[in-house]
Amino acid sequence: MSAPMYVSTRGGGAPVPFEAALLRGLAPDGGLYVPTAVPAMPDGWDAPGSFADLAARVLAPWLPDVDGLDALVADALPFPIPVVDLDWNGVSVAELFHGPTLSFKDVGARTMARLVGRAQREPVTILVATSGDTGSAVADGFAGVPGVRVVLMYPDGGVSDVQARQLTAPRPGVVALAVQGTFDDCQRLAKEAFAAGIPGLSSANSINVGRLLPQMTYHALAARERPGAVVVVPSGNLGNLTAGVLARTMGAPISAFVAAHNANDGFARFLADGTAPTGPSRQTLSNAMDVGAPSNLERLRALVPDLAGLVRAETVTDDETLATMRAVHDATGYVADPHTAVGLTAARRLRERGDARPVVVLATAHPAKFPEAVARATGAAPPVPPALDLPAADPEAVIAPTLDTLVDWL
Ligand SMILES: *Cc1c(COP(=O)(O)O)cnc(C)c1O
Repeated sequence: MSAPMYVSTRGGGAPVPFEAALLRGLAPDGGLYVPTAVPAMPDGWDAPGSFADLAARVLAPWLPDVDGLDALVADALPFPIPVVDLDWNGVSVAELFHGPTLSFKDVGARTMARLVGRAQREPVTILVATSGDTGSAVADGFAGVPGVRVVLMYPDGGVSDVQARQLTAPRPGVVALAVQGTFDDCQRLAKEAFAAGIPGLSSANSINVGRLLPQMTYHALAARERPGAVVVVPSGNLGNLTAGVLARTMGAPISAFVAAHNANDGFARFLADGTAPTGPSRQTLSNAMDVGAPSNLERLRALVPDLAGLVRAETVTDDETLATMRAVHDATGYVADPHTAVGLTAARRLRERGDARPVVVLATAHPAKFPEAVARATGAAPPVPPALDLPAADPEAVIAPTLDTLVDWL
């Protein structure tokens, strides 16, 4: 079985193997890498077993050349993905937040870090723009990988207190920079740095195929546990949704997707009238989804010609998010974080339209990462789990949102 090759969404250049796409991040013509073919699920992919076992089976046809893939995946993903039925609108949640930084981004980042550690031959600097969860997941995932530095950029004042502590926690080989701007400024800076061709620079944002592919695995798990479900994906840059679409194309039994957005409704407008979303982003309670111009939209369009037939987008206000957190807590005692609650709100709308299919909402972050919002909604902040019991620390620097300032740190 030969491994899929990857081409740019903009059509430039010859197809490249996985390792080249992994180490480059963005294609040389500025496009995103997409696979030239999507392999089918291997026989027995949905056999009973741990999340890591299932993940290794789902990834095997994508990475046939990676020796010891099972061990790599077992080391990256030693945590469960519980699927919990809520006694609320017949909705289930797949809890993706049991990794070390309590965000679903641990799945992609930890797997990618091990793939990069194995593939790299020259020192690499991973440049990450983060609206909160990516940075700590990437920093945690890569810390200690020889030959790899990580430079994190996050919007100064645009992340929660807990997220700031996680981002600035001292880690070997990791530099955290607070950027005087929004998440979109951070993303623009990353794009400019990559376009400038700085040697040894790579990305770990959800544009990187090294994060995208592992994210298929929990969509497959959700489909194994609730076959035929509509999967509701709390969305920002649409990486998570894109991975779900790939898992479904492989053959995971997912009937449709709902992209659940906060006030940043660019994707919903795109589906409605075809206008490509542009920034700026708006700040909301679900700040990891505060994205004005979702970077994976270009890839999603390349992979799915008829997006509107497969994906529906819902937009949810902060007031609705808080009301859902409160309603779910009152009805069931379950505490959802604001990102998950955006998804739960979208799930309830499916029911209100009479959709009777199973529904799995991806729970993308642990509620303890958002204590203020949880306290507002339920009257009490959640207990702090050990993984979040971190001291406050300063970033390495606060920088102006310009490439010149950033380059000094690369
Ligand atoms: C990153 C993130 C999202 C959005 O995921 P995308 O892949 O960017 O669409 C949703 N929820 C949480 C908690 C996140 O950290």
